[in-house]
Amino acid sequence: MKIAFFDTKPYDKQTFEKYVKDYGFDIKYFETKLNEDTADLANGFDAVCAFVNDTVNDKVIDKFYGMGIRVLALRCAGFNQVDMKHAYGKLHVLRVPAYSPYAVAEHAIALLLTSVRRIHKAYIRSKDFNFSLSGLTGFDLYGKTVGVIGTGKIGRVFMDICRGFGMKILAYDKFPDHMLEKDGSVRYVSMEDLLQNSDILSLHCPLTEETYHLIDEDALNLCKKGVILLNTSRGALVDAEALLNAIKSRKVGAACLDVYEEESEWFFEDNSGHIMEDDTLARLISMPNVIVTSHQAFLTEEALENIAQTTLENLRGFFETDQCENELCYTGGGTRECKNGKCF
Ligand code: NAD
Repeated sequence: MKIAFFDTKPYDKQTFEKYVKDYGFDIKYFETKLNEDTADLANGFDAVCAFVNDTVNDKVIDKFYGMGIRVLALRCAGFNQVDMKHAYGKLHVLRVPAYSPYAVAEHAIALLLTSVRRIHKAYIRSKDFNFSLSGLTGFDLYGKTVGVIGTGKIGRVFMDICRGFGMKILAYDKFPDHMLEKDGSVRYVSMEDLLQNSDILSLHCPLTEETYHLIDEDALNLCKKGVILLNTSRGALVDAEALLNAIKSRKVGAACLDVYEEESEWFFEDNSGHIMEDDTLARLISMPNVIVTSHQAFLTEEALENIAQTTLENLRGFFETDQCENELCYTGGGTRECKNGKCF
């Protein structure tokens, strides 16, 4: 089986090469991202492997269909980059539903601690033998209230860590799991309640039509003054312009962003020699109380290993049996995991 692998980075190739021999697949690694202009590279392949900032829109899907490609293996959990409605009946979409919730939750905490204790400032100062503490005053996380939006795999690990810090936890989820409230350490509340009462907000829900710009001007207006926003989920959950305005007006005390709405233009690449044309991103990065990482939260050795193994296992399942445990299907009402094998 020949697999066209898009948006390849050295760490992807290194991990997939470790396992691919066991599966007998032939992978061709393309560095370019997948989009309408590059989809033709997949001609002659049996499957395509794509990542978070690839574009699998109606045109790409139709091209694949015309080439006889029937399977797309996403090496990530999120699938907002795929037009799932258009894919139904044409392209089977497989994903890696969980590879390390710890990787993402721990990165969110790393960003939070960096921000709250001004580690990003202290690191640069001490490199220059500037050992002054002025301006580095932080605050204790103990006793603070964190509002967690999305209490799935990552949200739960994040809450576990927050519990360890002695934080109070408010939660919001479209499908709450009230078992989480049993020991009294977590309380599900309305979105409004969560926004009004949280010192820190952390986003762990997927990007859907419903959650697009979940954190917009109105939501930010409801927040406590000085709230800290953590987004390690998907950029478009936050209206970046509204966030910038809220930082300028001092409503938002700090923002830690591993994802950004327009990240596909910039993230994962070295743009250090280029003029940054995205004024909103440039302005956000220029703020002393904003920390941006480049969609890095997933990047641990454990996660990469799990991603490679599950992606290859998904493809083997697809080609050798009719059981594709990690297939996603558009059902009319939305996209669901289709546990019963290939559904068309
Ligand atoms: P999950 O499916 O286990 O949990 C998502 C939770 O969000 C579920 O409990 C679901 O009920 C809830 N939800 C769905 N719609 C909602 C809505 N409208 N409002 C509130 N909650 C809603 O997913 P997960 O593994 O915890 O991952 C969460 C997100 O993290 C993914 O969707 C992905 O976007 C992001 N992610 C980011 C990285 C990274 O490197 N930064 C890596 C992996 C995942």
